[in-house]
Amino acid sequence: MAETLTDKLLLNRWFKTAMGEDYVEWAVQLLLRGEDSPSLRVLAGLNPNLERYEVEPNFLETCDELNIRPLPPDCNPRSVVPLIRRLHRSNLMSAKEALDKMSELYEASEFSDPLLGLWFMVRDDYAPELGEEIDRWVEDAWPFYDRAQVLELPQDFPKFVGCDHCGHIGMPVPWNKLNPPIKSPIGADARPKETVMPYVCAVCNTCPARHIGHFGILEKYLSRFNS
Ligand SMILES: [Zn+2]
Repeated sequence: MAETLTDKLLLNRWFKTAMGEDYVEWAVQLLLRGEDSPSLRVLAGLNPNLERYEVEPNFLETCDELNIRPLPPDCNPRSVVPLIRRLHRSNLMSAKEALDKMSELYEASEFSDPLLGLWFMVRDDYAPELGEEIDRWVEDAWPFYDRAQVLELPQDFPKFVGCDHCGHIGMPVPWNKLNPPIKSPIGADARPKETVMPYVCAVCNTCPARHIGHFGILEKYLSRFNS
């Protein structure tokens, strides 16, 4: 429990949303759970209205004494993922919050990390149907994250779609680039608000293809790296 309390503070600290009172409350809770060190005692007694920068020096001393390694502000956003995962796995963070935090990590990577981008796209409704089962999606997404983190994914990976018709997985054809017009069972009147939805396979022009956030598509895509 003390570990998840620390995870939560470290996470909020990294995102710069932790306030002075969060540090003090953390220290109090740790003392109540039997942790102890000179700086922890001092931190627990500080005025909760202090600014973050005022409590930081004491916090860093406490970390040193308790063997806690706070994440450097400029670390790779992927280093933050284990905190999010542990909080989610411990039921201290909802699936929705985990999805939000992972998406914020993608933003923190300046939209450069395709693996984090997958979460961002799912949050941003690139696959609206997945949003309806977000608890299960997040739960099932962690093992895929582990598998994919060792791979060099292409930059466009978060926008990929898979075609059940021809098996192609890649960037979809945007609606406005379709010529001749789409072979769609949906009909021209059902044109969606987003130009990328529903997705059209770039190889066989079949619609709809499914976003790579669907684990069936993702599984097929990742398995190609093994062969
Ligand atoms: Zn196709």
